[in-house]
Amino acid sequence: MPLGQINAAIARLRVGGFVPYSSVDCPGELAAVVFLQGCSWACDYCQNPHLRSFKKTGEESWERVLGALQERRGLLDMVIFSGGEPLAQIGLEEAMAQVRAMDFKVGLHSAGTSPRRLRAVLPVCDWVGLDIKAMAPDYAALTHHANSGRMAWECLDLLLAAELRYEVRTTWHPQLMPLERLMELAEQLRARGVRYFRLQALRGRGCLRPELDDWPPAHLDAATQAELAAMFDDFSWRYAG
Ligand code: SF4
Repeated sequence: MPLGQINAAIARLRVGGFVPYSSVDCPGELAAVVFLQGCSWACDYCQNPHLRSFKKTGEESWERVLGALQERRGLLDMVIFSGGEPLAQIGLEEAMAQVRAMDFKVGLHSAGTSPRRLRAVLPVCDWVGLDIKAMAPDYAALTHHANSGRMAWECLDLLLAAELRYEVRTTWHPQLMPLERLMELAEQLRARGVRYFRLQALRGRGCLRPELDDWPPAHLDAATQAELAAMFDDFSWRYAG
């Protein structure tokens, strides 16, 4: 991309939030997390509805983030781009390259909304946390976006082919997806080549569809956890924050 276009893309980067230290967003890495604003999907359980709008709302800016990162050189391992959906931002590659030039590793949290955009940023990434929300045919009912299942599963194939460090994550509640369907999903992930799978319980709090906030906590019995653990090199079950 010519320099003028790169600068314009960076100038349009919409930063919705910044967490300077996190030890829970990427296994084994002390990371800062940059939340980019905007997502075209509308998942019922989205807990960042304020980040779905593509209109910039907060005071945070990329310049301020770079300043904060400069002060943390040598103290942090990684900078993770999260959202909203980071792939929706045209300036993402350049922002990642700037972070890499500061000697940070680069992480990405994504729902896999665009295989084309993921392909463009994978060469700059050290680690990706990819949401696979459901089996492909079940996606649209959850995300309210017609092609979301195809997009996400294509992104999964790209990620697995890239041989990066990664984690596949699924948010689950039995009222969202029956247990039998969850096990089918896990089997499909395993067959596709997924080795690192994190299952997180949906815990209703500020969900886009408010009635989900009243659902009781999801429970996964020990035998099912063990069955899932046997399917992957690394499996974890935890409550979503
Ligand atoms: S992909 Fe879904 S959960 Fe993630 S930001 Fe978009 S609407 Fe929210």
